[in-house]
Amino acid sequence: MTERFYITTPIYYVNDVPHIGHAYTTIAADVAARYHRLKGQEVFFLTGTDEHGQKVQEAASKRGVPAQQHVDELHVRFKELWARFNISNTDFIRTTEERHTRVVQKILQDLFDRGEIYRDTYEGWYCTPCERFFTEKDLKEGNCPECGRAVGQISEANYFFKMSQYQNWLIEHINSNPGFVRPESRKNEILGFLKKPLGDLCISRPKERLAWGVPLPFDDQYVTYVWFDALINYVSVHGQVPEIKTCGYWPASHHLIGKDILTTHSVYWSTMLKAIGLELPDNIFAHGWWTVNGQKMSKSLFNVVEPNKLIDQFGVDVIRYFLMREVPFGLDGDFSHKALIGRVNSDLANNLGNLLNRTLNMIQKYYGGAIPTPDVTGPEDEPLKAKAREVIATVDKLFSELAFNKILMAIWEFLDAANVYINDTAPWNLAKTDEGKKRLGTVLYNAAEALRFASVLLHPFMPASAVTLRQQLGLSATVEDEGLASLDAWGKTAPGTQTQPGAQLFPRIEEKEAEKILAAAEAEEKADEAQASGIAPIAEQVTIEDFMKLDFRTGVILEAEKIKKSKKLLKLKVDIGLEQRQVVAGIAEAYEPEQLVGRTIILVANLKPAKLMGIESQGMILAGSDSEKIVVAGFDQELPKGSKVK
Ligand SMILES: [Zn+2]
Repeated sequence: MTERFYITTPIYYVNDVPHIGHAYTTIAADVAARYHRLKGQEVFFLTGTDEHGQKVQEAASKRGVPAQQHVDELHVRFKELWARFNISNTDFIRTTEERHTRVVQKILQDLFDRGEIYRDTYEGWYCTPCERFFTEKDLKEGNCPECGRAVGQISEANYFFKMSQYQNWLIEHINSNPGFVRPESRKNEILGFLKKPLGDLCISRPKERLAWGVPLPFDDQYVTYVWFDALINYVSVHGQVPEIKTCGYWPASHHLIGKDILTTHSVYWSTMLKAIGLELPDNIFAHGWWTVNGQKMSKSLFNVVEPNKLIDQFGVDVIRYFLMREVPFGLDGDFSHKALIGRVNSDLANNLGNLLNRTLNMIQKYYGGAIPTPDVTGPEDEPLKAKAREVIATVDKLFSELAFNKILMAIWEFLDAANVYINDTAPWNLAKTDEGKKRLGTVLYNAAEALRFASVLLHPFMPASAVTLRQQLGLSATVEDEGLASLDAWGKTAPGTQTQPGAQLFPRIEEKEAEKILAAAEAEEKADEAQASGIAPIAEQVTIEDFMKLDFRTGVILEAEKIKKSKKLLKLKVDIGLEQRQVVAGIAEAYEPEQLVGRTIILVANLKPAKLMGIESQGMILAGSDSEKIVVAGFDQELPKGSKVK
């Protein structure tokens, strides 16, 4: 029987705007899925969206649309981004789909019938945004331990899953299956969590409070707690419980998750599976978080690393490569445009790009573009071939550990070896002598063969680039068709294959362009920060000469009156020493006319007159404002009318 491989991402919260963290998990799962397909395994790769819960209901009602319409519209953002990222998921599950809710209800009914779920009155604290119950001792300084917001006291009848009875069993399972929770630090975190007594899990929410969920099959006054519903997606995609047991894809090989949802997966989900009577997944792998330029991800930083924008700017494969290469999977990482540009130039343009370009150039120059026949072997050949055998074994071992960055390092060591091989054999010198020419064909054949190996090994990480690489090498079969088996021997490229040199695979980002990218990213970050703080961003710079063109003068308001039919405008008469001006000012909502008479203000005195509501305004008075109020600018001491203000 063909081996089966089942990998999942979390189902993403449908209200979230897809960000770099979502992309990271999904790309990692895609890389693993693609590799296992190359091994000839039957792969099921699942992602999807979590579409129930209070926040979804609230967001929908805020938009004034039905909740179903809201999630139907929003989940598409994830589907579209995964298409752009070349994600090869087998299925995309949504928790509002009937195929899912049907399984959730069947499982609930079964657990209820078997006494795994009971009814009780819950008394304690509840955080509405988190949809979580907490005991007194859970609270952090009286607030929600998860989000820090205020919690409300609550007493209501609910249904509970008997999670506590599985505590010792779970500890035992984690201890006897070292690969179950990874990395090691996360395993220890969970074992630490399980040192405290584990309570039972409240799995219901009264409908009067929350209607947007899967109704409990045994009590129509309640819907299912969103996590209890959501976690079941990993099995519901394969059908009802009896079918899951025989579908061949359960237990899952890997659940990839972010470290923030470690407890729900390793504790809730594991005990749920135990109660349902299903095996536990082989592995739950919790990866780290991304900071941006050394700062914690915030709303303003989300925009700077918005995945669609990064794709537009750098291309899909550059982003896929960077995310997998930059940080060990499991640890936190930092995203910066500078580091990204560095990777493009050193790893992609210099190392891989250079190997391809010079190999194809020399095949073009010496053999008219046809890959030559290997003829006379030399002492440099064997180390390169040995390196090729070695990298295949190393990559395979590292894939079982999901050590993506180490896999790429191993592949790049192989590319280095190929570059060294060309330097050592110096084909440009071989071409100069008759004796050398006998060896030249072998050297260039081996260089092309190394690139064929690279195309297969790189495919999981950079599928589109692997296609281009093979096109340029003149290889007609796809990596998917040939699989890893095509690397079982050196020398499978047919001599005489006509190469098709094309555009550079990864052009270097030159210094000037790099500076531009960095400056743009920084400017955008600042603008977003300003926006997040509610303060308008600083406008474009002007010169001192520009500024000096403006003539600001002090003036005293002599008269002020409301303008009929306008809520905002006042008509003022202002004395600026040399003359009197009629000014229309948008301050009627902030000041009564009589408040203003006699006040000294600052007037832009050389502004071209303009008509507002048919009334000429001969200048503009300075005022500060935010979203709520307007305050007219003035002085803390008296100044004569007509004084210059700079
Ligand atoms: Zn909370």
